Amino acid sequence: MPAGIQFTETMRGHFSTSVLNDDYAAGEARGRKDGTILEFKMTVQSDNLDEMLTNPQHQARLDGTVNCPTLSPQPLKVSGGEFHLFIKDPTQVNTRLMTYKMVAKAADGKSYRIDGFKTIHDDKHFEIWPDTTTLFTKVVDLNGPAEKVIGTGILHILPADFAVQMTTMQVTNAANPVEALTGLAKFGLFFAGALFDTYGGVLVRSNELKTDAPPRKKRPLKMSAPDVHFFETDDKTTLRLTRYSGGKKGPVMLAPGFGTPTLAYSIDTVDTNLPEALFAAGYDVWLFDYRASPDLKSARTQFTLDDIAKRDYPAAVAKVREVSGAPTVQVMAHCVGSMTFLMAMAAGLQGVRSAVSSALTLYSDSPLANRIRAGMDLGKLLTNAKIETLTTDFDRQKAEDAIIDNILKTFPSKEQCHSAVCRRILGIYGDVYKHDQLNEATHNAIHEMFGVANVRTFNHLGLIVRTGHVVDANGGDTYMNHLDRLAIPITFVHGEENNLFLPSGSLKTLQKLASVNDAKLYQRVEFKNYAHMDCYMGRDSARDIFPTIVGELDRFN
Ligand SMILES: [Zn+2]
Repeated sequence: MPAGIQFTETMRGHFSTSVLNDDYAAGEARGRKDGTILEFKMTVQSDNLDEMLTNPQHQARLDGTVNCPTLSPQPLKVSGGEFHLFIKDPTQVNTRLMTYKMVAKAADGKSYRIDGFKTIHDDKHFEIWPDTTTLFTKVVDLNGPAEKVIGTGILHILPADFAVQMTTMQVTNAANPVEALTGLAKFGLFFAGALFDTYGGVLVRSNELKTDAPPRKKRPLKMSAPDVHFFETDDKTTLRLTRYSGGKKGPVMLAPGFGTPTLAYSIDTVDTNLPEALFAAGYDVWLFDYRASPDLKSARTQFTLDDIAKRDYPAAVAKVREVSGAPTVQVMAHCVGSMTFLMAMAAGLQGVRSAVSSALTLYSDSPLANRIRAGMDLGKLLTNAKIETLTTDFDRQKAEDAIIDNILKTFPSKEQCHSAVCRRILGIYGDVYKHDQLNEATHNAIHEMFGVANVRTFNHLGLIVRTGHVVDANGGDTYMNHLDRLAIPITFVHGEENNLFLPSGSLKTLQKLASVNDAKLYQRVEFKNYAHMDCYMGRDSARDIFPTIVGELDRFN
Protein backbone atom coordinates (compact mmCIF):
# COMPACT_ATOMS: atom_id res chain seq x y z
CA MET A 1 0.00 0.00 0.00
CA PRO A 2 1.38 3.45 -0.89
CA ALA A 3 1.80 6.18 1.72
CA GLY A 4 -1.16 8.51 2.14
CA ILE A 5 -1.77 11.89 3.77
CA GLN A 6 -4.33 13.09 6.28
CA PHE A 7 -5.06 16.31 8.16
CA THR A 8 -7.88 18.17 9.86
CA GLU A 9 -8.89 21.62 8.71
CA THR A 10 -11.08 24.10 10.55
CA MET A 11 -12.43 27.15 8.70
CA ARG A 12 -14.70 29.86 10.06
CA GLY A 13 -16.44 32.79 8.45
CA HIS A 14 -19.61 34.50 7.36
CA PHE A 15 -21.98 34.19 4.44
CA SER A 16 -25.19 35.87 3.46
CA THR A 17 -28.35 34.58 1.89
CA SER A 18 -28.93 38.01 0.38
CA VAL A 19 -25.83 37.87 -1.86
CA LEU A 20 -26.14 35.24 -4.57
CA ASN A 21 -23.71 36.45 -7.23
CA ASP A 22 -19.89 36.09 -7.23
CA ASP A 23 -19.27 39.04 -4.91
CA TYR A 24 -17.83 36.91 -2.10
CA ALA A 25 -16.58 39.91 -0.13
CA ALA A 26 -20.04 41.47 -0.16
CA GLY A 27 -21.54 38.21 1.10
CA GLU A 28 -18.97 38.08 3.89
CA ALA A 29 -19.54 41.72 4.89
CA ARG A 30 -23.30 41.34 4.96
CA GLY A 31 -23.03 38.05 6.85
CA ARG A 32 -20.78 39.64 9.45
CA LYS A 33 -23.30 42.43 9.92
CA ASP A 34 -26.20 39.97 10.24
CA GLY A 35 -24.24 37.45 12.30
CA THR A 36 -24.81 34.58 9.84
CA ILE A 37 -21.86 32.26 10.45
CA LEU A 38 -20.61 29.28 8.50
CA GLU A 39 -17.92 27.00 9.95
CA PHE A 40 -16.60 23.56 9.19
CA LYS A 41 -14.16 21.04 10.56
CA MET A 42 -13.08 18.47 7.98
CA THR A 43 -10.67 15.59 7.87
CA VAL A 44 -8.91 15.65 4.50
CA GLN A 45 -7.66 12.21 3.53
CA SER A 46 -5.90 10.72 0.52
CA ASP A 47 -4.51 7.20 0.44
CA ASN A 48 -1.90 8.04 -2.19
CA LEU A 49 0.40 10.92 -1.35
CA ASP A 50 2.61 10.60 -4.44
CA GLU A 51 -0.37 10.72 -6.75
CA MET A 52 -1.76 13.65 -4.81
CA LEU A 53 1.47 15.56 -5.44
CA THR A 54 1.92 14.63 -9.11
CA ASN A 55 -1.54 14.07 -10.60
CA PRO A 56 -2.98 17.52 -11.35
CA GLN A 57 -6.57 16.45 -10.67
CA HIS A 58 -6.08 14.16 -7.75
CA GLN A 59 -8.87 14.13 -5.29
CA ALA A 60 -8.91 13.65 -1.54
CA ARG A 61 -11.86 12.83 0.65
CA LEU A 62 -13.56 15.20 3.08
CA ASP A 63 -15.43 14.03 6.18
CA GLY A 64 -16.63 16.15 9.06
CA THR A 65 -19.21 18.58 10.32
CA VAL A 66 -20.57 21.98 9.29
CA ASN A 67 -21.89 24.49 11.77
CA CYS A 68 -24.41 26.87 10.19
CA PRO A 69 -27.46 27.81 12.31
CA THR A 70 -29.02 29.49 9.26
CA LEU A 71 -29.33 26.06 7.61
CA SER A 72 -29.84 23.88 10.68
CA PRO A 73 -29.83 24.35 14.44
CA GLN A 74 -27.72 21.18 14.81
CA PRO A 75 -24.39 20.60 13.06
CA LEU A 76 -24.69 19.20 9.53
CA LYS A 77 -22.79 16.05 8.59
CA VAL A 78 -20.46 15.64 5.62
CA SER A 79 -19.16 12.33 4.37
CA GLY A 80 -17.29 11.64 1.16
CA GLY A 81 -16.83 15.28 0.11
CA GLU A 82 -14.24 16.14 -2.57
CA PHE A 83 -11.04 18.09 -2.12
CA HIS A 84 -8.87 18.82 -5.16
CA LEU A 85 -5.40 20.23 -4.97
CA PHE A 86 -4.92 21.39 -8.54
CA ILE A 87 -1.30 21.92 -9.41
CA LYS A 88 -1.98 24.78 -11.80
CA ASP A 89 -4.86 27.07 -12.42
CA PRO A 90 -4.80 26.95 -16.24
CA THR A 91 -6.02 30.54 -16.46
CA GLN A 92 -3.23 32.13 -14.40
CA VAL A 93 0.53 31.66 -14.12
CA ASN A 94 2.21 30.47 -10.92
CA THR A 95 -1.15 29.75 -9.42
CA ARG A 96 -2.55 26.70 -7.70
CA LEU A 97 -6.16 26.08 -6.99
CA MET A 98 -7.68 24.12 -4.11
CA THR A 99 -11.34 23.27 -4.43
CA TYR A 100 -13.79 21.93 -1.88
CA LYS A 101 -17.13 20.31 -2.68
CA MET A 102 -19.13 18.78 0.16
CA VAL A 103 -22.71 17.75 0.66
CA ALA A 104 -23.85 18.59 4.18
CA LYS A 105 -26.88 16.73 5.57
CA ALA A 106 -29.01 18.39 8.24
CA ALA A 107 -30.82 16.52 11.03
CA ASP A 108 -34.15 17.34 9.36
CA GLY A 109 -33.08 15.41 6.24
CA LYS A 110 -32.34 18.42 4.04
CA SER A 111 -29.11 18.57 2.02
CA TYR A 112 -26.93 21.50 1.06
CA ARG A 113 -23.74 21.61 -0.98
CA ILE A 114 -20.87 23.83 0.06
CA ASP A 115 -18.57 24.75 -2.84
CA GLY A 116 -15.34 26.56 -2.10
CA PHE A 117 -12.03 27.44 -3.67
CA LYS A 118 -8.65 28.88 -2.63
CA THR A 119 -6.27 30.49 -5.10
CA ILE A 120 -2.59 30.32 -4.18
CA HIS A 121 -0.20 32.71 -5.95
CA ASP A 122 3.19 31.06 -5.67
CA ASP A 123 5.04 34.11 -6.93
CA LYS A 124 3.71 36.56 -4.35
CA HIS A 125 5.14 35.67 -0.98
CA PHE A 126 3.32 38.35 0.97
CA GLU A 127 -0.03 36.98 -0.11
CA ILE A 128 0.62 33.42 0.96
CA TRP A 129 -1.11 33.72 4.33
CA PRO A 130 -4.38 35.19 2.99
CA ASP A 131 -4.22 32.89 -0.07
CA THR A 132 -3.75 29.69 1.91
CA THR A 133 -6.30 30.55 4.55
CA THR A 134 -9.11 32.14 2.52
CA LEU A 135 -11.91 30.04 1.07
CA PHE A 136 -14.38 31.68 -1.30
CA THR A 137 -17.62 29.87 -0.62
CA LYS A 138 -21.09 29.30 -2.03
CA VAL A 139 -23.97 27.42 -0.38
CA VAL A 140 -26.22 25.48 -2.74
CA ASP A 141 -29.70 24.20 -1.81
CA LEU A 142 -30.22 20.63 -3.11
CA ASN A 143 -33.78 20.18 -1.86
CA GLY A 144 -35.82 21.63 -4.74
CA PRO A 145 -36.34 20.23 -8.24
CA ALA A 146 -33.11 21.99 -9.35
CA GLU A 147 -30.09 23.00 -7.30
CA LYS A 148 -30.03 26.67 -6.34
CA VAL A 149 -27.38 28.99 -4.89
CA ILE A 150 -28.72 30.35 -1.60
CA GLY A 151 -25.70 32.09 -0.13
CA THR A 152 -22.20 33.51 -0.74
CA GLY A 153 -19.37 34.30 1.65
CA ILE A 154 -15.75 33.79 2.72
CA LEU A 155 -14.26 31.43 5.30
CA HIS A 156 -10.82 31.82 6.91
CA ILE A 157 -8.35 29.77 8.91
CA LEU A 158 -7.31 31.46 12.16
CA PRO A 159 -3.63 31.21 13.13
CA ALA A 160 -4.45 28.98 16.13
CA ASP A 161 -6.55 26.68 13.92
CA PHE A 162 -3.81 26.60 11.28
CA ALA A 163 -1.25 25.59 13.91
CA VAL A 164 -3.52 22.73 14.97
CA GLN A 165 -4.07 21.76 11.34
CA MET A 166 -0.34 21.51 10.70
CA THR A 167 0.13 19.33 13.78
CA THR A 168 -2.66 17.00 12.65
CA MET A 169 -1.01 16.58 9.24
CA GLN A 170 0.34 13.05 9.05
CA VAL A 171 1.58 10.55 6.52
CA THR A 172 -0.31 7.27 6.71
CA ASN A 173 1.11 3.84 5.77
CA ALA A 174 4.71 5.08 5.55
CA ALA A 175 7.28 2.31 5.29
CA ASN A 176 9.50 3.95 7.91
CA PRO A 177 9.85 7.16 9.95
CA VAL A 178 12.12 8.83 7.37
CA GLU A 179 9.56 8.25 4.60
CA ALA A 180 6.86 9.63 6.90
CA LEU A 181 8.84 12.79 7.69
CA THR A 182 9.96 13.31 4.08
CA GLY A 183 6.39 12.83 2.80
CA LEU A 184 5.08 15.25 5.39
CA ALA A 185 7.68 17.82 4.40
CA LYS A 186 6.87 17.48 0.70
CA PHE A 187 3.12 17.73 1.13
CA GLY A 188 3.38 20.43 3.79
CA LEU A 189 5.52 22.62 1.53
CA PHE A 190 3.17 22.04 -1.37
CA PHE A 191 0.04 22.74 0.66
CA ALA A 192 1.23 25.60 2.84
CA GLY A 193 4.30 26.91 0.99
CA ALA A 194 6.55 29.14 3.08
CA LEU A 195 4.10 28.88 5.99
CA PHE A 196 4.96 25.23 6.51
CA ASP A 197 8.38 26.16 7.85
CA THR A 198 6.80 28.16 10.64
CA TYR A 199 3.81 25.96 11.39
CA GLY A 200 4.79 22.53 10.19
CA GLY A 201 6.68 21.02 13.10
CA VAL A 202 9.17 19.64 10.59
CA LEU A 203 12.34 21.47 9.65
CA VAL A 204 12.71 21.06 5.90
CA ARG A 205 14.97 23.94 5.03
CA SER A 206 17.98 21.69 5.64
CA ASN A 207 17.28 20.00 2.32
CA GLU A 208 18.33 23.14 0.53
CA LEU A 209 21.48 23.86 2.51
CA LYS A 210 22.69 20.42 3.41
CA THR A 211 21.38 18.04 0.83
CA ASP A 212 22.16 14.89 2.76
CA ALA A 213 20.32 16.00 5.90
CA PRO A 214 16.85 14.46 6.32
CA PRO A 215 13.97 16.64 7.55
CA ARG A 216 14.00 16.99 11.30
CA LYS A 217 11.05 16.79 13.68
CA LYS A 218 10.91 19.94 15.81
CA ARG A 219 9.55 20.17 19.34
CA PRO A 220 6.48 22.42 19.63
CA LEU A 221 7.45 25.90 20.82
CA LYS A 222 6.15 27.04 24.21
CA MET A 223 4.20 29.89 22.63
CA SER A 224 0.84 30.57 21.03
CA ALA A 225 0.32 29.88 17.32
CA PRO A 226 2.48 32.17 15.21
CA ASP A 227 0.88 34.85 13.10
CA VAL A 228 2.91 35.35 9.93
CA HIS A 229 2.92 38.72 8.16
CA PHE A 230 4.65 39.16 4.83
CA PHE A 231 4.94 42.82 3.85
CA GLU A 232 6.70 45.01 1.30
CA THR A 233 9.33 47.71 1.58
CA ASP A 234 9.35 50.87 -0.55
CA ASP A 235 11.53 49.07 -3.13
CA LYS A 236 9.02 46.17 -3.32
CA THR A 237 11.11 43.70 -1.37
CA THR A 238 9.02 41.15 0.54
CA LEU A 239 9.98 40.74 4.20
CA ARG A 240 8.52 38.69 7.02
CA LEU A 241 7.38 39.29 10.58
CA THR A 242 6.30 36.32 12.71
CA ARG A 243 4.25 37.26 15.75
CA TYR A 244 3.88 35.33 19.00
CA SER A 245 1.56 37.34 21.17
CA GLY A 246 2.44 36.57 24.78
CA GLY A 247 0.87 39.59 26.46
CA LYS A 248 0.74 43.32 26.75
CA LYS A 249 4.48 44.04 27.07
CA GLY A 250 6.32 45.18 23.98
CA PRO A 251 5.72 44.75 21.11
CA VAL A 252 9.35 43.73 20.81
CA MET A 253 10.96 43.11 17.41
CA LEU A 254 13.81 40.58 17.31
CA ALA A 255 16.31 41.03 14.48
CA PRO A 256 18.96 38.33 13.93
CA GLY A 257 22.54 38.53 12.67
CA PHE A 258 23.80 38.40 9.09
CA GLY A 259 23.18 35.28 7.02
CA THR A 260 20.78 33.83 9.57
CA PRO A 261 16.99 33.76 9.61
CA THR A 262 15.07 34.45 12.83
CA LEU A 263 15.23 30.69 13.38
CA ALA A 264 18.56 31.51 15.04
CA TYR A 265 16.43 32.91 17.87
CA SER A 266 13.55 30.43 17.79
CA ILE A 267 15.60 27.24 17.44
CA ASP A 268 13.94 24.32 19.22
CA THR A 269 17.14 22.45 20.11
CA VAL A 270 17.43 24.28 23.43
CA ASP A 271 14.92 23.90 26.29
CA THR A 272 13.90 27.56 26.21
CA ASN A 273 14.81 29.98 23.46
CA LEU A 274 14.72 33.78 23.64
CA PRO A 275 11.27 34.24 22.02
CA GLU A 276 9.88 31.69 24.49
CA ALA A 277 11.50 33.50 27.43
CA LEU A 278 10.02 36.82 26.27
CA PHE A 279 6.63 35.21 25.62
CA ALA A 280 6.62 33.75 29.14
CA ALA A 281 7.43 37.22 30.48
CA GLY A 282 4.31 38.63 28.81
CA TYR A 283 5.79 40.10 25.61
CA ASP A 284 4.16 40.50 22.23
CA VAL A 285 7.11 39.03 20.28
CA TRP A 286 7.75 39.80 16.60
CA LEU A 287 10.55 37.95 14.80
CA PHE A 288 11.88 40.17 12.03
CA ASP A 289 13.36 38.56 8.91
CA TYR A 290 14.95 41.44 7.01
CA ARG A 291 16.16 41.11 3.42
CA ALA A 292 19.34 39.19 4.29
CA SER A 293 17.33 36.35 5.87
CA PRO A 294 18.07 33.10 4.01
CA ASP A 295 14.36 32.30 4.44
CA LEU A 296 13.50 35.05 1.97
CA LYS A 297 14.04 35.24 -1.78
CA SER A 298 15.71 38.62 -1.30
CA ALA A 299 18.77 36.96 0.32
CA ARG A 300 19.77 35.92 -3.21
CA THR A 301 19.74 39.49 -4.48
CA GLN A 302 22.48 42.10 -4.12
CA PHE A 303 21.97 44.89 -1.57
CA THR A 304 23.85 46.94 0.99
CA LEU A 305 23.41 47.48 4.71
CA ASP A 306 21.90 50.89 3.83
CA ASP A 307 18.91 49.06 2.33
CA ILE A 308 18.32 47.19 5.59
CA ALA A 309 18.67 50.39 7.64
CA LYS A 310 16.71 52.77 5.43
CA ARG A 311 14.08 50.50 3.91
CA ASP A 312 13.61 47.33 5.99
CA TYR A 313 13.55 48.77 9.51
CA PRO A 314 11.09 51.59 8.74
CA ALA A 315 8.74 49.17 6.94
CA ALA A 316 8.93 46.61 9.76
CA VAL A 317 8.37 49.10 12.58
CA ALA A 318 5.43 50.57 10.67
CA LYS A 319 3.94 47.10 10.13
CA VAL A 320 4.24 46.13 13.81
CA ARG A 321 2.68 49.42 14.91
CA GLU A 322 -0.10 49.07 12.36
CA VAL A 323 -1.03 45.47 13.22
CA SER A 324 -0.55 45.65 16.99
CA GLY A 325 -1.98 49.13 17.39
CA ALA A 326 0.89 49.98 19.74
CA PRO A 327 2.23 53.55 19.38
CA THR A 328 5.85 52.45 19.83
CA VAL A 329 7.90 49.24 19.69
CA GLN A 330 10.98 47.87 21.44
CA VAL A 331 13.85 46.33 19.50
CA MET A 332 16.23 43.50 20.36
CA ALA A 333 18.84 43.12 17.64
CA HIS A 334 22.05 41.16 17.21
CA CYS A 335 25.17 41.67 15.07
CA VAL A 336 24.34 43.09 11.62
CA GLY A 337 20.71 43.35 12.78
CA SER A 338 21.94 45.52 15.64
CA MET A 339 24.29 47.71 13.61
CA THR A 340 21.69 48.33 10.90
CA PHE A 341 19.15 49.17 13.62
CA LEU A 342 21.47 51.89 14.97
CA MET A 343 22.03 53.08 11.38
CA ALA A 344 18.26 53.15 10.89
CA MET A 345 17.86 55.32 13.99
CA ALA A 346 20.58 57.69 12.76
CA ALA A 347 18.73 57.84 9.43
CA GLY A 348 15.61 59.01 11.26
CA LEU A 349 13.66 55.84 12.21
CA GLN A 350 10.71 56.78 14.46
CA GLY A 351 8.49 54.79 16.79
CA VAL A 352 11.10 52.86 18.79
CA ARG A 353 10.80 53.26 22.57
CA SER A 354 13.91 51.37 23.73
CA ALA A 355 16.36 48.80 22.42
CA VAL A 356 18.82 46.09 23.31
CA SER A 357 21.76 46.15 20.92
CA SER A 358 23.99 43.09 20.80
CA ALA A 359 27.63 42.70 19.74
CA LEU A 360 27.96 44.82 16.60
CA THR A 361 27.20 48.50 17.06
CA LEU A 362 28.41 51.81 15.63
CA TYR A 363 32.07 50.91 16.18
CA SER A 364 33.09 47.55 14.78
CA ASP A 365 36.34 46.74 16.59
CA SER A 366 37.26 43.50 14.86
CA PRO A 367 40.34 41.43 14.11
CA LEU A 368 38.89 41.27 10.60
CA ALA A 369 40.13 44.84 10.10
CA ASN A 370 43.76 43.68 10.15
CA ARG A 371 43.06 40.99 7.60
CA ILE A 372 41.23 43.42 5.35
CA ARG A 373 44.09 45.94 5.56
CA ALA A 374 46.44 43.08 4.64
CA GLY A 375 44.38 42.50 1.48
CA MET A 376 42.49 39.56 2.93
CA ASP A 377 39.04 40.97 2.33
CA LEU A 378 36.62 38.09 1.77
CA GLY A 379 34.14 40.27 -0.09
CA LYS A 380 36.81 41.68 -2.43
CA LEU A 381 38.32 38.24 -3.04
CA LEU A 382 34.93 36.88 -3.97
CA THR A 383 34.14 39.89 -6.14
CA ASN A 384 37.41 39.35 -7.98
CA ALA A 385 36.49 35.70 -8.44
CA LYS A 386 33.16 36.95 -9.89
CA ILE A 387 31.18 35.19 -7.17
CA GLU A 388 28.03 37.01 -6.10
CA THR A 389 26.50 34.83 -3.42
CA LEU A 390 27.88 32.20 -1.12
CA THR A 391 26.23 29.65 1.08
CA THR A 392 27.30 27.60 4.05
CA ASP A 393 26.53 24.49 2.06
CA PHE A 394 29.08 23.35 -0.42
CA ASP A 395 29.48 20.97 -3.24
CA ARG A 396 33.07 20.12 -4.02
CA GLN A 397 32.22 19.32 -7.62
CA LYS A 398 31.24 22.87 -8.39
CA ALA A 399 34.08 25.06 -9.62
CA GLU A 400 32.71 28.04 -7.72
CA ASP A 401 32.75 26.11 -4.48
CA ALA A 402 36.33 25.05 -5.05
CA ILE A 403 37.29 28.71 -5.42
CA ILE A 404 35.39 29.69 -2.27
CA ASP A 405 36.96 26.83 -0.36
CA ASN A 406 40.43 27.88 -1.41
CA ILE A 407 39.72 31.44 -0.33
CA LEU A 408 38.27 30.26 2.98
CA LYS A 409 41.34 28.13 3.73
CA THR A 410 43.18 31.38 4.25
CA PHE A 411 40.71 32.38 6.99
CA PRO A 412 41.71 30.27 9.98
CA SER A 413 39.29 29.95 12.90
CA LYS A 414 40.13 29.60 16.58
CA GLU A 415 37.25 27.17 16.85
CA GLN A 416 38.16 23.63 15.78
CA CYS A 417 35.47 21.36 14.46
CA HIS A 418 35.06 18.05 12.63
CA SER A 419 31.90 19.21 10.84
CA ALA A 420 32.54 20.47 7.30
CA VAL A 421 29.43 22.67 7.35
CA CYS A 422 30.46 24.16 10.68
CA ARG A 423 33.99 24.88 9.40
CA ARG A 424 32.54 26.60 6.37
CA ILE A 425 30.25 28.75 8.54
CA LEU A 426 33.25 29.77 10.64
CA GLY A 427 35.24 30.43 7.47
CA ILE A 428 32.62 32.70 5.93
CA TYR A 429 31.39 34.52 9.02
CA GLY A 430 34.34 34.21 11.41
CA ASP A 431 34.06 32.88 14.98
CA VAL A 432 30.30 33.39 15.22
CA TYR A 433 29.80 31.02 18.15
CA LYS A 434 31.76 29.38 20.91
CA HIS A 435 31.42 25.60 20.68
CA ASP A 436 31.63 25.14 24.47
CA GLN A 437 28.30 26.89 24.93
CA LEU A 438 26.32 24.79 22.43
CA ASN A 439 24.59 21.51 23.10
CA GLU A 440 25.00 18.72 20.57
CA ALA A 441 21.49 19.07 19.10
CA THR A 442 22.11 22.73 18.31
CA HIS A 443 25.52 22.02 16.78
CA ASN A 444 23.98 19.26 14.64
CA ALA A 445 21.30 21.71 13.48
CA ILE A 446 23.69 24.61 12.89
CA HIS A 447 23.32 24.45 9.10
CA GLU A 448 19.61 25.24 9.52
CA MET A 449 20.49 28.63 10.95
CA PHE A 450 22.72 29.85 8.13
CA GLY A 451 22.18 30.23 4.45
CA VAL A 452 22.98 32.29 1.43
CA ALA A 453 24.75 35.61 1.78
CA ASN A 454 25.43 38.17 -0.91
CA VAL A 455 28.81 39.64 -1.65
CA ARG A 456 27.72 43.28 -1.93
CA THR A 457 26.65 43.17 1.71
CA PHE A 458 29.98 41.59 2.63
CA ASN A 459 31.74 44.41 0.84
CA HIS A 460 29.78 47.05 2.77
CA LEU A 461 30.52 45.25 6.02
CA GLY A 462 34.20 45.04 5.03
CA LEU A 463 34.23 48.78 4.36
CA ILE A 464 32.76 49.49 7.82
CA VAL A 465 35.21 47.14 9.52
CA ARG A 466 38.14 48.80 7.71
CA THR A 467 36.84 52.28 8.57
CA GLY A 468 36.20 51.26 12.19
CA HIS A 469 32.72 52.79 12.40
CA VAL A 470 29.50 52.75 10.39
CA VAL A 471 29.61 54.44 6.99
CA ASP A 472 27.23 54.19 4.07
CA ALA A 473 28.03 51.95 1.12
CA ASN A 474 29.91 54.83 -0.56
CA GLY A 475 32.05 55.33 2.51
CA GLY A 476 30.18 58.51 3.48
CA ASP A 477 29.68 59.60 7.10
CA THR A 478 25.93 59.92 6.73
CA TYR A 479 25.16 58.08 9.98
CA MET A 480 27.76 59.18 12.54
CA ASN A 481 26.83 62.84 12.13
CA HIS A 482 23.22 62.20 13.26
CA LEU A 483 23.80 60.50 16.61
CA ASP A 484 21.42 62.97 18.28
CA ARG A 485 18.68 60.85 16.70
CA LEU A 486 19.67 57.91 18.91
CA ALA A 487 18.35 59.58 22.07
CA ILE A 488 16.35 56.57 23.25
CA PRO A 489 17.23 54.11 26.04
CA ILE A 490 19.64 51.51 24.62
CA THR A 491 21.31 48.66 26.48
CA PHE A 492 24.40 47.32 24.76
CA VAL A 493 25.09 43.65 25.43
CA HIS A 494 28.28 41.85 24.46
CA GLY A 495 29.83 38.42 24.96
CA GLU A 496 33.05 39.01 26.87
CA GLU A 497 34.87 36.45 24.69
CA ASN A 498 33.57 37.74 21.36
CA ASN A 499 36.58 37.39 19.03
CA LEU A 500 34.66 38.49 15.95
CA PHE A 501 33.45 41.89 17.15
CA LEU A 502 35.37 42.88 20.24
CA PRO A 503 33.64 44.18 23.39
CA SER A 504 35.62 47.43 23.02
CA GLY A 505 33.40 48.30 20.03
CA SER A 506 30.18 48.57 22.03
CA LEU A 507 32.05 50.32 24.85
CA LYS A 508 33.19 53.01 22.38
CA THR A 509 29.64 53.25 21.02
CA LEU A 510 28.23 53.80 24.50
CA GLN A 511 30.84 56.45 25.32
CA LYS A 512 30.25 58.26 22.03
CA LEU A 513 26.46 58.29 22.45
CA ALA A 514 26.78 59.36 26.10
CA SER A 515 28.86 62.35 24.93
CA VAL A 516 26.20 63.42 22.41
CA ASN A 517 22.97 62.61 24.30
CA ASP A 518 21.87 62.17 27.93
CA ALA A 519 24.37 59.62 29.28
CA LYS A 520 21.67 58.07 31.50
CA LEU A 521 19.96 56.63 28.41
CA TYR A 522 22.67 54.03 27.84
CA GLN A 523 23.61 50.87 29.70
CA ARG A 524 26.04 48.12 28.91
CA VAL A 525 26.33 44.48 30.03
CA GLU A 526 29.05 41.92 29.24
CA PHE A 527 28.27 38.21 29.35
CA LYS A 528 31.08 36.19 30.91
CA ASN A 529 32.18 33.02 29.08
CA TYR A 530 30.06 33.83 26.04
CA ALA A 531 31.16 34.97 22.60
CA HIS A 532 28.70 35.87 19.84
CA MET A 533 25.68 33.85 18.61
CA ASP A 534 26.10 31.38 21.45
CA CYS A 535 24.56 34.10 23.64
CA TYR A 536 21.21 33.31 22.00
CA MET A 537 21.42 29.62 21.15
CA GLY A 538 23.60 28.44 24.01
CA ARG A 539 22.73 25.44 26.17
CA ASP A 540 22.42 27.68 29.24
CA SER A 541 21.39 30.98 27.63
CA ALA A 542 17.99 30.78 29.33
CA ARG A 543 19.83 30.90 32.67
CA ASP A 544 22.78 33.14 31.83
CA ILE A 545 21.54 35.62 29.22
CA PHE A 546 17.78 35.86 28.76
CA PRO A 547 16.94 37.25 32.24
CA THR A 548 19.17 40.24 31.43
CA ILE A 549 17.48 40.83 28.07
CA VAL A 550 14.01 40.54 29.60
CA GLY A 551 15.05 42.80 32.49
CA GLU A 552 16.42 45.52 30.19
CA LEU A 553 13.24 45.49 28.07
CA ASP A 554 11.08 45.43 31.24
CA ARG A 555 12.52 48.74 32.39
CA PHE A 556 10.62 50.46 29.57
CA ASN A 557 7.26 48.73 29.85
ZN1 LIG B 1 31.39 22.91 14.92
